[in-house]
Amino acid sequence: MNVLGKAKAAATYDAIVIGSGISGGWAAKELCEKGLRTLVLERGRQVRHVTDYPTALLNPWDLPHRNRLSAEYKAANPVATKCYALDEATKHFFTPDADQPYVQEKPFDWIRAYQVGGKSLLWARQTQRWSRFEFENPARDGYADWPIRYPDLAPWYSHVEKFVGIAGNKDGLEVLPDGEFLPPWEMNCVEKHLQQRIKAAYPDRHPIIGRCAHLTKPQPIHLKQGRGQCQARHLCYRGCPFGGYFSSNSATLPWAAKTGKLTLRPDSVVHSIIYDEQKGKATGVRVIDAQTKETTEYYARIIFVNAACLNTNLILLNSTSRRFPNGLGDDYGLLGHYVGFHNYRGNVGGTVEGFEDQYFYGRRPTQVFLPNFRNVHRQEADFVGSYMSYYGASRPGWASAARKEGFGAEWKEAATRPAGPWHVSMGMQGETLPKYENHVRLNRDQLDPFGLPTLVTSVGYDDNDLRQIKDFMTQAAEMLDKAGVKNIHSYDDNRNPGLDIHEMGGVRMGKDPKTSLLNGWNQFHACNNVFVTDGACMTTMGNQNPSLTFMALTARAADYAVREARKGSL
Ligand SMILES: Cc1cc2nc3c(=O)[nH]c(=O)nc-3n(C[C@H](O)[C@H](O)[C@H](O)COP(=O)(O)OP(=O)(O)OC[C@H]3O[C@@H](n4cnc5c(N)ncnc54)[C@H](O)[C@@H]3O)c2cc1C
Ligand code: SF4
Repeated sequence: MNVLGKAKAAATYDAIVIGSGISGGWAAKELCEKGLRTLVLERGRQVRHVTDYPTALLNPWDLPHRNRLSAEYKAANPVATKCYALDEATKHFFTPDADQPYVQEKPFDWIRAYQVGGKSLLWARQTQRWSRFEFENPARDGYADWPIRYPDLAPWYSHVEKFVGIAGNKDGLEVLPDGEFLPPWEMNCVEKHLQQRIKAAYPDRHPIIGRCAHLTKPQPIHLKQGRGQCQARHLCYRGCPFGGYFSSNSATLPWAAKTGKLTLRPDSVVHSIIYDEQKGKATGVRVIDAQTKETTEYYARIIFVNAACLNTNLILLNSTSRRFPNGLGDDYGLLGHYVGFHNYRGNVGGTVEGFEDQYFYGRRPTQVFLPNFRNVHRQEADFVGSYMSYYGASRPGWASAARKEGFGAEWKEAATRPAGPWHVSMGMQGETLPKYENHVRLNRDQLDPFGLPTLVTSVGYDDNDLRQIKDFMTQAAEMLDKAGVKNIHSYDDNRNPGLDIHEMGGVRMGKDPKTSLLNGWNQFHACNNVFVTDGACMTTMGNQNPSLTFMALTARAADYAVREARKGSL
């Protein structure tokens, strides 16, 4: 073999995974476990579990600005600082706005977290399965058709849940199927009271304690990962040194590394996928080194694209060839279209009388969820689609008293007691409908610091979304009223799309190659050795937090890809 041949062989793997976040971590784990030499390419820096969580154990007074962001930082990062999880102790896990400019044709808050582990370090860890209704109802209501149904994914939800560790209660609800649960977190006294009142007033509405990726009782599989019991500190966004919550860094990536099959390459910005016209397949990827800006190529028989929804769209749109002049696999002008998100705009709150002799102690990394009750068995509301609601009840306590200025015995005494009545606040997580107009595309005239085209976001709300907000606010106010809540107020916070951080679509799955890009195995109809298993693949958005579904789809697709490769069909 000549020098060139040797270099190519050294850069050749069985599989390449683009991105090391929630879905990329799963692709790496599954492919490595099945014996494939797997290269994970990650544009961000290395973040090692535990050692690279510099703020995890700091007190507010240990931080230079007592955990507040400086005015200078806020001015430089108007988009990122809208995210509630960004503070002085977490800012090293967020990507500064200037690192990747984009064009907001319509306002879109694009929250990014470029590092090994991606947003798995920052997510709020709420994990609900989709039900049969989210897979079936889009076809019933005529706005999309999934190529798979709930039973196709159910075993893969179980597979993922056992490894991740999900705290939850077996509630027995058809609208939110149970999973493989660890012991659940508990509602406080007021949340339980509201649960009972809502259930009594509405037979089809069942508030439940949130299901989340926290180890309330680690099992042997979690201990084998080196993870331990969640301590309920709720400082998770800084990285958890106990491995109490699931992240790529604490779970999937080290697991994949243990197989000896993983090569993880941080600081590797994937530019595009290489398509070979003769073979009719993708053969590898072009990568820009984030430090030196040099371009390299890597090769593999199987490619998984897991760069998170919008970057996956960007990479694929940038992967042009004679065969695919508009982007990889795009024969019908669909790539980048049908982008959706979750509608969080409606908010309702009020005060709860009584329970003044009670308080809650400690922190809990979840809240109460009310699974969707709209348009379940038939189209009944004046909007199409579904929404999930969530609520939490709390009481201003010593912490808020202590934040008030003061000194002396009276102030200290006040700081030790709960202050004021109980409050409840309820929010929505609504499904937006996939629409051709909601799209992203490339602006090749304006390049980012790595020389990649910038992304144009043209994604907005429509009348259906506005009717959904109104419906939620009416229903939530009525529910709280029936539950005895006082001083009920509601508002639309008018947030931009994107701030939900649940962006999905653009490379959607479907049965028909003329209306979708991926088949029921997340495999391109027109380029069968490339798989997309992050949010970009979603045909519709559902109303549940999406990442558990991304993980289950990824594990399922990896299993299929390896079986197909062994048959010689990839
Ligand atoms: C504050 C917050 C709260 C959230 N709460 C929840 C929740 O409760 N439940 C839930 O289900 N979801 C939640 N999410 C969303 C969740 O984090 C995402 O759905 C999930 O991380 C998506 O997984 P992913 O693998 O697609 O992307 P990511 O985890 O973002 O990983 C993508 C990776 O790809 C890398 N990458 C991007 N471009 C390139 C490139 N060109 N080359 C190489 N690498 C690249 C990125 O650096 C990143 O590491 C939350 C997110 C945030 C920020
Ligand atoms: S709440 Fe649990 S997962 Fe979060 S930081 Fe604390 S121990 Fe870790």
